[in-house]
Amino acid sequence: MTQIIDGKELAKNIKLQLKIEVENLRKNGIIPKLAVIMIGDDPASKVYVKNKSRACQKVGIEFEEYLFDANIEEKELFSIIEKLNKDKSVTGILLQAPIPKHLNINKAIELISPSKDVDGFNPVNIGKLTIGEDTFISCTPYGIMKMFEEYKIQTEGKHVVILGRSNIVGKPLIQCMLNLNSTVTVCHSRTNNIEEITRTADILISAIGKPKFVKENMIKDGAVIIDVGINRVNNGSIVGDTDYENIYKKASYITPVPGGVGPMTIAMLLTNVVKAAKLNNCEK
Ligand code: NAP
Repeated sequence: MTQIIDGKELAKNIKLQLKIEVENLRKNGIIPKLAVIMIGDDPASKVYVKNKSRACQKVGIEFEEYLFDANIEEKELFSIIEKLNKDKSVTGILLQAPIPKHLNINKAIELISPSKDVDGFNPVNIGKLTIGEDTFISCTPYGIMKMFEEYKIQTEGKHVVILGRSNIVGKPLIQCMLNLNSTVTVCHSRTNNIEEITRTADILISAIGKPKFVKENMIKDGAVIIDVGINRVNNGSIVGDTDYENIYKKASYITPVPGGVGPMTIAMLLTNVVKAAKLNNCEK
C-alpha cells in the first residue's frame, strides 16, 4: 500500500519542538533572530518572505526584514551583509532569491558569515557537507533527509535518481544522499534517455520545476517518490513535478504537492536559525 509522506504534519511537530527549545534559549538570554534581505518586488518572493516571517513568529524567533529597491548598488548590499554579520543580535541571515541580475549573488552569499548562513548556501558550509562535517544543510535537502528519517525509509545501498542540479536543491542533495550511503545519479536538461534512468530509481527526487513531468511509465513499482517542484498551472492551482494521481498507486511512499516538501523546507530553516543561535550564543 502506498504511504503518503505528510510533510505538513511532520513540519508541525518540528515547529512544536522548536517552540519549546526557543523558550528555553530565551530563558538563558539567547534570542534567535532571522534577518531576511529582499531586493525588488517579485510577488512569489514576497509570499515566501511572509510565510517565513509567520513561521518565525509562531516559534518565537525574531524576524527582521531588509527591503531594498531593485536598483540597489552592489556595494550597498555587501555593506548591509557586513553589518548583519557583525550584529550580535542577528543569529541567521538569508538573502531571498532571485535578486536582480546586476548583483553577483554568489559573491553576496560568500559574504554571509558561515556561522549565520541558515540557508546553507555559503561555499564553506557546502564544503563541510561534502566532507561529511556538521554544518548548515540547505533547507529543502535537509527537509527531505528528515522525511527519510521520520518515515524510516531505507537509503543505504539504494539507487537515488535526482532530477535537477541547482545549487539550492539538486547539488546539495547529491551530497546528502551520498552521506546516507545511497548510490546517486543526477539528471538535468541535457540528460539523454531520462526515462530509462528514472525507471531504475529506488528513490526518485524531482526538483526541476516542470508540471507533471514524471509520468507513470517513468517509475518502477514500489519506488519512493519525492516531489520538490512547485508549479502554478493555468487554473491557478499548484502542482508538483510528478503526475501524482497516476503514479500514486505505483509508489511505496510519495510526497504530495502542496503539503509535502514545502512545509519541511520552512521547518528546517527554523531549525537552522535555532542551531545558529546556539552556535553564536547571541544576546539581544
Ligand atoms: P532551477 O534552479 O530552475 O533548476 C532546475 C533544474 O532542473 C536544472 O538543473 C535544470 O537543468 C533541470 N531541468 C529543467 N528542465 C528539465 C528537464 N526537462 N529534464 C531534466 N532536467 C531539467 O530550479 P530549483 O530552484 O532547483 O527549483 C526546482 C523546483 O523546485 C521549482 O519548481 C521550485 O519552485 C521548486 N522548489 C521547491 C522548494 C520547496 O520547498 N518545495 C524549494 C526550492 C525549490 P539544467 O541545469 O541543465 O538547466
